[in-house]
Amino acid sequence: MPVFMRITVDLHTHTVYSHGQGTIEDNVRAAYSRGLRAVGIADHGPGHLFIGIKGLAAFRRMQREIAKTRRLFPGMEILLGVEANIVDLDGTIDIPPAFLPELDYLLVGYHKLVRPHSIAALKVALRNLFAGWTGQCSGSLRRGNTASLTAAVRRYPVAAVTHPGLQIGIDTYELALVCAEYGTALEINSAYAAEQENHVKKALQAEVSFLVSSDAHSPDRVGDFAEALALIERLNIPVERLLNWENSYN
Ligand SMILES: [Zn+2]
Ligand SMILES: [Zn+2]
Repeated sequence: MPVFMRITVDLHTHTVYSHGQGTIEDNVRAAYSRGLRAVGIADHGPGHLFIGIKGLAAFRRMQREIAKTRRLFPGMEILLGVEANIVDLDGTIDIPPAFLPELDYLLVGYHKLVRPHSIAALKVALRNLFAGWTGQCSGSLRRGNTASLTAAVRRYPVAAVTHPGLQIGIDTYELALVCAEYGTALEINSAYAAEQENHVKKALQAEVSFLVSSDAHSPDRVGDFAEALALIERLNIPVERLLNWENSYN
């Protein structure tokens, strides 16, 4: 009996609620047509200066739209998540804790250009911007970034940290150790697979799981795991390490 190994769950897709091109229904339709069994909407958290979800009212509209879309696609699992931003050095994210139970899952990723919650966080954000321009990240900045991310993993029920190492310098091995301890996955992001390669290599040394996702910003990329799968093959990552890998027997 042949075994087809595949990924049928894409938890990291963006819509017009942040800076994606498609509606929720567009993403779900694309996922359905590609044979996925579950799709998650994880737009950027409201703390982003330019592209974040526009407050809790927008989340409410997303919830209503998802309820409507579930009726259109009864066989699909359609989930509402978020790609939250870290807005303070202690790992604070831009989603009020009281709202978290209304989401199906939580992704956290470091992004530049978020609204910092403290002067200290503003200073670090500026240092990260500068490090991005110069390509040089000091040891203290790297340690601080790692401390913020690991603090978020300890504080919140984070399903996965998105694109670890993208946009900022971090100690990926240390992050992976904390993620392994707290049951949080690290993402293998198909849109940034090349940039992630060294980080995934380091994370492999810890016993952390990986979540494979498209990070689709347009419906045509929903369920596109090609680059992530190529990276997984290059690094010979055992499929048992992949959270959303399924064996199906036909
Ligand atoms: Zn992101
Ligand atoms: Zn994203």
